[in-house]
Amino acid sequence: MRCPQCGTRDTRVIDSRDLDDSATIRRRRECASCATRFTTYERVEAARLVIVKRDGTRQEFDKAKLVSGLRKALTRRPVPDGAAEQAADAIEAELRAAGASEVPSSKVGALAMEQLRAIDQIAYIRFASVYQSFEDLEDLKREVDTLYAEKGNGGGRT
Ligand SMILES: [Zn+2]
Repeated sequence: MRCPQCGTRDTRVIDSRDLDDSATIRRRRECASCATRFTTYERVEAARLVIVKRDGTRQEFDKAKLVSGLRKALTRRPVPDGAAEQAADAIEAELRAAGASEVPSSKVGALAMEQLRAIDQIAYIRFASVYQSFEDLEDLKREVDTLYAEKGNGGGRT
């Protein structure tokens, strides 16, 4: 690390600490030649994940935005705290596991629906009705019927 004051490469670390998120390390350094002290930050470089929207625009994957979308769908539903965050983590993990640096937004939406479907069916329908913008009431009804059928088969309820 070069000294910002005199350009000497010989600097030493005098302090090193994790920042709050533990993904960043802050180091205080001192130049061996002019004794200037400066700070450097070291963090893991996350692989870029770019979302390609339907209109072709690209946007860095934004987990906070995904969480807020999921949270909105889960509003006042009887789900554990952090359900939205966990779902978002799972979605991100799956996207990253696929290894592609660009992912269509439809893929993110499909994964979000998959997650919500497993967490809470009302939340799933809420999200799907906004996201998939069901063509008409028939579409929505078909989706709900499918859920009912599955519930009937699986849970033994009528
Ligand atoms: Zn220096």
